[in-house]
Amino acid sequence: MKQVLHFINGKFLESTSGKFYDNYNPATGKVISKIALGSEEDVDKAVEAASEAMNGEWGNIKINDRIALLYALADEIDSRFDEFLEAETLDTGKPYTIARHIDIPRGAANFKVFADTMKSVADEAYQMDTPDGGIAMNYSRRYPKGVITVITPWNLPFLLMTWKVGPALACGNTVVVKAAESTPTTTALLGEVMNKVGIPKGVFNVVHGFGKDIGDRLTSHPKVDAVTFTGSTPTGKRIMQSSALDLKHLSLELGGKNPAIIFADCDMKKAINETVRSVFANSGQVCLGTERVYVERPIFDKFVNKLKKAGENIKLGIQHDESSDMGPLISKDHQEKVLSYYKLAKDLGANVVLGGGSPKMENGLENGYWIDPTIWTGLSEDSAIVKEEIFGPCCHIAPFDTEEEAIKLANDTEYGLAATVFSENLSKAHRVAGQIDAGIVWVNSWFLRDLRTPFGGMKKSGIGREGGHHSLEFYTELKNICIKM
Ligand code: NAD
Repeated sequence: MKQVLHFINGKFLESTSGKFYDNYNPATGKVISKIALGSEEDVDKAVEAASEAMNGEWGNIKINDRIALLYALADEIDSRFDEFLEAETLDTGKPYTIARHIDIPRGAANFKVFADTMKSVADEAYQMDTPDGGIAMNYSRRYPKGVITVITPWNLPFLLMTWKVGPALACGNTVVVKAAESTPTTTALLGEVMNKVGIPKGVFNVVHGFGKDIGDRLTSHPKVDAVTFTGSTPTGKRIMQSSALDLKHLSLELGGKNPAIIFADCDMKKAINETVRSVFANSGQVCLGTERVYVERPIFDKFVNKLKKAGENIKLGIQHDESSDMGPLISKDHQEKVLSYYKLAKDLGANVVLGGGSPKMENGLENGYWIDPTIWTGLSEDSAIVKEEIFGPCCHIAPFDTEEEAIKLANDTEYGLAATVFSENLSKAHRVAGQIDAGIVWVNSWFLRDLRTPFGGMKKSGIGREGGHHSLEFYTELKNICIKM
């Protein structure tokens, strides 16, 4: 059986305890590998290695050499594209058709984009008058923060991990990464790539394991300078508490309950195509995905019917079948959680427009964590289905009558990550987008990402922004140097 090991100080290592845990293929429910089960001792080793690397060759490396290494990383990922694709789709169950176009290419791009950002960033300089009638010059310089803990979720494992490791290394930091327990393989594989291109030992470290065992140590270790986390809001709160004891810098990218607003003057085809993606893509396991759809009353029935038809055409299947549109959910636990919401919706009297259960699969997929694409109408706005993040391929659709009502409904949530607005009236689209409490609003589209733009959430969807030069704000310390002339 394949083993996935920690990567510490440039070497693949078993856990200090010698223990492993099972990793499952979500499509079949079968064990595919044994993962080294990390403990606090393993975290300590990784942080020590990262801290030493800051004081060694990496700490003194020239910016151009660092940038060349990041480009080499991206090229090496590209040259091992099929290996990354296989590892990612086996861990997550997502179809090749998704991972080939999103997860792996974006993983490689994250290194190039942040290398370019670092190369082109302009810092401030101010001339000032001094009390004695002379002048002084202020200029700012960027320094790495030091050792960064990177903790990531399972829904887009390679993409979201490199989204943080890319800028962290571009800015000259070292990292200790903990991938989600169910999707550690591509993160470990990146260790091989680091060695191949010559990233010095200790710069990139990986410890596998469960948040309950190693989370607190990773986020409170005295030699960790900052923590960047993507995952659920409850875990984000926990990390904030644990890292606060040592006053660590923190970036939190958390959950969402994202609305879509569909006006009667929308291009219906566009609205359906984009909403099918935003609700069902990656089996609904996308933080930016739509779970609440608000449709202007005159087109409500038409929209619901069309979304239902589009949902019926989604083909569930194993990852390497090129005709599969949707894979399973990530785990048995997550399947049970999503199914509990499906049951609750029925108990609350929802009109189940589509799906509502788990499909019968064949040919070895019987024990996978499959779930129906699901659409409901008819629930009240204060029901748990409309209020809580489900993170499955499902949405609730409700009608609205006025622009003001649509905005009020969209904002009636404790989250504020993303939203979509569909209208061919550009003035209205600008007006509405400006009033929605969300870090990202897409008009007539979804998941169009320019990596230079600020990314993050309002309210309980996060703290801080990453992306482009916003990432540099988190991954560097700015120093002002004032010279009296
Ligand atoms: P999760 O919070 O359960 O786990 C995320 C990571 O945190 C995992 O690596 C986990 O092992 C680790 N963890 C768990 N407990 C910990 C602790 N006490 N200390 C430190 N680390 C701990 O989230 P998940 O179920 O893996 O991912 C789904 C969630 O992530 C959803 O809420 C989704 O919206 C969110 N998400 C947000 C974004 C974003 O950019 N805002 C992107 C993707 C996913």
